[in-house]
Parts: sequence; C-alpha cells; structure tokens
Amino acid sequence: MSSPGQYVVSIDQGTTSTRAMVFDRAGTVVASEQLEHEQIFPRAGWVEHDAVEIWRNTRRVAAAALAAVEILPGNIVACGITNQRETTVVWDRATGEPVYNAIVWQDTRTDAICQELAEDGGVDRYRKRTGLPLAAYFAGPKVRWILDNVDGARERAERGELAFGTIDSWLAWNMTGGPNGGLHVTDVTNASRTLLMDLSTLQWDPEICAEIGVPMSMLPEIRSSSGVIAPLRKEGALPGVPLAGILGDQQAAMFGQACLEPGEAKNTYGTGNFLLLNTGTEPVYSEHGLLTTVCYRLDGEDARYALEGSIAVTGSLVQWLRDNLGLISDAREVETLAKQADDNGGVYFVPAFSGLFAPRWRADARGVIVGLTRFANRNHIARAVLEATAYQTREVIEAMEADSGVTLHTLKVDGGMVLNELLMQFQSDILSVPVVRPVVNETTALGAAYAAGLAVGYWESTDDIRANWAQGGRWDPSMPDADRAALFAGWNKAVEHSFDLA
Ligand code: ADP
Repeated sequence: MSSPGQYVVSIDQGTTSTRAMVFDRAGTVVASEQLEHEQIFPRAGWVEHDAVEIWRNTRRVAAAALAAVEILPGNIVACGITNQRETTVVWDRATGEPVYNAIVWQDTRTDAICQELAEDGGVDRYRKRTGLPLAAYFAGPKVRWILDNVDGARERAERGELAFGTIDSWLAWNMTGGPNGGLHVTDVTNASRTLLMDLSTLQWDPEICAEIGVPMSMLPEIRSSSGVIAPLRKEGALPGVPLAGILGDQQAAMFGQACLEPGEAKNTYGTGNFLLLNTGTEPVYSEHGLLTTVCYRLDGEDARYALEGSIAVTGSLVQWLRDNLGLISDAREVETLAKQADDNGGVYFVPAFSGLFAPRWRADARGVIVGLTRFANRNHIARAVLEATAYQTREVIEAMEADSGVTLHTLKVDGGMVLNELLMQFQSDILSVPVVRPVVNETTALGAAYAAGLAVGYWESTDDIRANWAQGGRWDPSMPDADRAALFAGWNKAVEHSFDLA
C-alpha cells in the first residue's frame, strides 16, 4: 500500500531526449526533467546516437528531477524504464564501453542485409514466428551490421565478450551495476522488436539468431514488463530503488492510456507515429501491413499482444522543416504558418525519408513534395507537413480495421504533436471520428511508472490505472464527406510518386 510522500519515478529515453518524471498515485506529474541528445547523421539514411551520452543524460535527469522537488530516493518506491525501441547498442561486457554508436530505429543501412535474408523465403520469412516483416527498422539486422563492420567485433562476440541490448537493456545494465555492469536484461515488448524472439514462446529463437548472424551469448535475459528486477546501484541517483518495470515506449503509452483490454487503441504522435490495438492473449497476424507485437506482460500472467501500425516520419518532418529548411525556428510555428493557408493549395508532402513503414513497407520510397504551382507558398508546405501525419494515420487505421474487424469509434491520442490544434482537428476530419487526449499527455513515462508501481503494489491493479485516465481535450469531425474523400484521394496519388526513388 502506498502512503503519502511515496512516488514512482520513470525514465523515458526517447529518440530526441531523455526524461525523468516523478508521479504520484493519482498519476499526476510531480517533477519532470529533460535533456536532448545529439542526432548523428553520418550519411544519407544513417542515424546514430552516442549511447554514453544517453546514459550520462539519464543519470543527470534522474538526479535533477528528485532534487527539483526535494524528494529523497527513500520516498521512491519503484523505477520504470521506457525507451525508443529497436535502437541497438553493442558493448564490451568487461569495460561497459559501446563498440559502436547506437544505431537508431530510423536508420536504413541494413536494407541490403534484409534484402539478402529475404532472398530465401521473402520479407515475410519470419512473420509467423516474430510477427514482423524483414525490415531495416528492427534490431537484429542492426546487430549483424555492427558485427560485420566493426573490426574484430564478430570474433569478440563469439568469445562471449560483447553484449547486445536495446536502450532499455543498456540503461538497466548501467543502472543496476558498477563499471563492469549489472544485470543484462530486457523485457518482452522490447525483445519483440528484434526479429529474434518467438512471439509464442517469448524466448530467443536460436534458428533465426543463427540465420541473421547474432550469437546467442550476446542476448539479454527476457523479463516481464512489470515485475521487480533488482535494486538500482548504490552509487547512482536512485540508490536501492527497485527497478520494477520495462516497456518499449509505444507499449508504455498503451499502459499510460489505459488501453489494457482487447479492442482498445491509442495513437502516439512523436518523432514517428505509432498506433497500437490491444488484441488480448492471442497474437493476431496482419494481412494489411501491420506488425504483431507484445503489448505487455505482467509478472505471472499471460502476455497480451497488440497489432501495430508504425509510421516512421511525422514529428520529425516538423523538425526537418526547422533544422534542414529553416522555415520555422520552433516546432510550434508550423501551426502558425499552416493556419495562414485556407487549405493545402493542392500540395502534398510524402515524408518517406526512411522508405515507407506501415502499412506499405516500401524500402524503395523517398520523400516527395507534389502538386506545386506558382501559387504555392510556405504556408501550404506547412499545411502539407501536418496533413501528412493525418493521412498516414488514416492508412494505418484502415489496415487495422481490416485486420481486426474492430471499428474505431474514437481515437485516443498522445505525444508531442497533439498540442497542435490544427493537426488534431484535421485528424478528426480526415478520419471522421472524434479524437480525444488525456489530461496527462506524457503517457509513455506514465505507463512505465504504472508498470513499475503495479509490481510493488503502489497501484493495486489495472483498475487503479483505468480510474486515473481523464479526458483533457476533444476534437469532433466537421468536414464535408466530399472534401474528405478528395483530400485522401490526392494523398494516395502523391504516395505513388514516392516509389522507386531509392
Ligand atoms: P519523441 O518521444 O519521439 O522524442 P515527442 O513525443 O517528445 O517525441 O514529440 C516531439 C515531436 O513532436 C518532435 O518531432 C516535434 O517536431 C513534434 N512537435 C512538438 N510540438 C509540435 C507542435 N506544436 N506541432 C507539430 N509538431 C510538434
């Protein structure tokens, strides 16, 4: 049971930044600290992070969040970790030093490895076992690339000297141990994004590991998403606090949105967009370009599965407008510009920077702006940027409805982009369903806190989590049907122009 003055802390290690957030029993944010990290683009299609910088930022934000509200580690009953998924770190077990930068989920350098693997059995070769198509997005081929390209790495890996982990695993290793490392663990949700885990046994698949070229000795132990793992190291910012929850960011957002029953779904608008539908204790295999993934597993219970539509580029297109074109100086300004145009002026922007993910999975696609006339200006481009997120979401929802037979009556949303009113109204219009946002928009961090707090009895059951959800915003559709149809037809035509460009 919780008593006043007790809290749960969540480490939310995202694509662009690392946050530490402290929550109370009502799920209210008590403290929050955030640090951005460098996005490293060594060449077209490559995206890396410095895993050491990420670990340093994690320590700093955790200490700062507690200090900001003068909470002592003794008042923290549990810590949860949530993370950008698929991003891959390989490190030396003896020194704790990464052998290469973290290869980020958006990175496409492993396209050739995936194509080569697909020659025998096609891109769906592992779909039955892993729920995933062969695509550069997932972690397994990224490990293979590091072992193939870093001098001596494969030999060291085969001698058992190297460890692989997604970011959760890298942080857990550092947070639970000294310089020579702590526990080498991950959770079922993160493991389900590697292409190396069997969805039904929830264990690494030795045959797939051998075929992709990842020695089993590198792999972390797979744990539940909610369950006590170990006390955090004495020298750290949270000495002795039990690490009790790990979830990939999108699965954490499912928890934070209380999508814990079959048929419940949410859409997160961050760097990319990720729509997940809870399908209960049975995995549902997609015939329309979605992924099958683990939604969560509570200690001692069966795993719950989800269907997922992953869109690579949504909020990062707004960053591109800011950083690569200099059209805006802050992400919020995209709305100011877009509002100055009555409509998109016929302009569509297909942001296929990493190819196209769900539901199309076209590695050969690249970004295009189409429909330009002498009339088009930056306001139309800003509008096209925002509309692209909404169209891509509609494609994923149509695939989801076709695969699951579930009709979405409202869309629960969260993430950085949902502060954009124009986008949310347009999303509702283009889907023709209401869009609702919770009061606590930081659902990812909240979800990891829930997973950790449930494990130590701070929240007694998922009923407590459901009771904490409260609506913070709502947008209702108001667009005439003919306009909706014409805009979506325009988008579909534009997408055709993005193919065969890689
Ligand atoms: P992540 O967890 O993936 O790092 P966040 O949920 O923090 O992402 O969302 C940040 C993303 O949202 C960035 O890509 C940013 O460009 C975008 N974003 C933030 N505010 C706005 C806004 N007002 N309008 C449009 N996009 C926004």
